[in-house]
Amino acid sequence: MPAMDGCEWQEVASASCAEGYYPVRKGEVFNGRYLVAQNLGCGYFSTVWLCQDLGKKKCVAVKVPKGGEDFAEAALDEVMLLRCVNSKRRKDRASDHVICFFDDFKMIGENGFHVCLVFELLGPSLQSLLKSQGVQGLPLPFVKKTTQQVLQGLHFLHKECRIIHTDIKPENILLHVTEESLQTLLHSMVSLEHGAGAKPKRPEDDMAAFLDCCNLMKMGVKIADLGSACWTYKPFSKKIQTQPYRALEVLLGLDYSTPADIWSAACLAFELATGEHLFDPQAGQHFSRDDDHVARIIELLGRIPPKIALLWKQASTFFNRPSALLRMSWISPYSLCHILTDKYSWPKQQAAPFTGFLLPMLEYAPERRAAAEKCLQHPWLNT
Ligand code: ADP
Ligand code: MG
Repeated sequence: MPAMDGCEWQEVASASCAEGYYPVRKGEVFNGRYLVAQNLGCGYFSTVWLCQDLGKKKCVAVKVPKGGEDFAEAALDEVMLLRCVNSKRRKDRASDHVICFFDDFKMIGENGFHVCLVFELLGPSLQSLLKSQGVQGLPLPFVKKTTQQVLQGLHFLHKECRIIHTDIKPENILLHVTEESLQTLLHSMVSLEHGAGAKPKRPEDDMAAFLDCCNLMKMGVKIADLGSACWTYKPFSKKIQTQPYRALEVLLGLDYSTPADIWSAACLAFELATGEHLFDPQAGQHFSRDDDHVARIIELLGRIPPKIALLWKQASTFFNRPSALLRMSWISPYSLCHILTDKYSWPKQQAAPFTGFLLPMLEYAPERRAAAEKCLQHPWLNT
């Protein structure tokens, strides 16, 4: 079967071993139970495979993280966090929006032990959905529904499980479609691949076929990839999150907790609605990517209160004096509402409520930032 988000088989297989990945062979049966059919995706830490569970006779997704002690230890942490999620899972809507974890096992390869994780099979990621839409964002009703479900999933992780996800971004939010739609998708992709005179297949073709057979508004989403997640009471690492989605407190090296996920969720909602990053920092000749990131944040959200800027013991690396950036003097303030109306041509009556929804999620002080439960009550989600 062809890939959804996935890479071509040969691509994965040849890149795999050298970079620490497990070199998966076509037709291989993992752990005597999971027959490999196709690559579903590649992250920095792992490759993910569509497999037939020969025991339960159903399709599953098997995540094979890179081998070696550090990756195996990280994968064991992921298993531990997912077991906690399973133990707290109830028949309610919030836990429905976090991926279901079924099983784990170990394999040995040329790069050492691989701790593998078995998940329910989900659809493509929001990243590939966004790519398939070209430059513009996704339809607003779908953005609202998706943001609501991500916040429900985060509420469950934060409050019930005491887990910080730490890597909320489009690649890690996967579409959840009915079994029937998934079968249609897999079937249509098989005919695409084997059709007479078929042109070389592009991922967009898969997505077009997928969107043809499913109604976007019938799809839900689930939060996936707890590979970097940690306990609220025991953060594993100082440097978390993927750069464009990184919260201010993380950029400044301050303590972080569940509000860091809310910041990322705001960046995600903006990206789904516009097709572009809310912050897209770049390093320059005289400043770092982090410098640029802090500058972009100040441009959009205003000066950082000295109370926060000076909390940071290395504040002098970024600031001359509170809220004046050391290496960047040319900051041009621009409000979020103006960006939506000027750059993306949104009507004011659409831009203002969206801005009203996002700004509490981007509060500088983490303790003042809206928690998931509070965001879920915002009227923008339901109008
Ligand atoms: P990493 O920690 O390496 O980023 P992820 O868990 O994010 O690994 O998985 C990498 C990619 O594999 C995802 O972005 C997605 O495209 C795909 N993927 C992961 N889990 C599933 C699943 N359960 N069903 C379908 N595709 C998946
Ligand atoms: Mg990932």
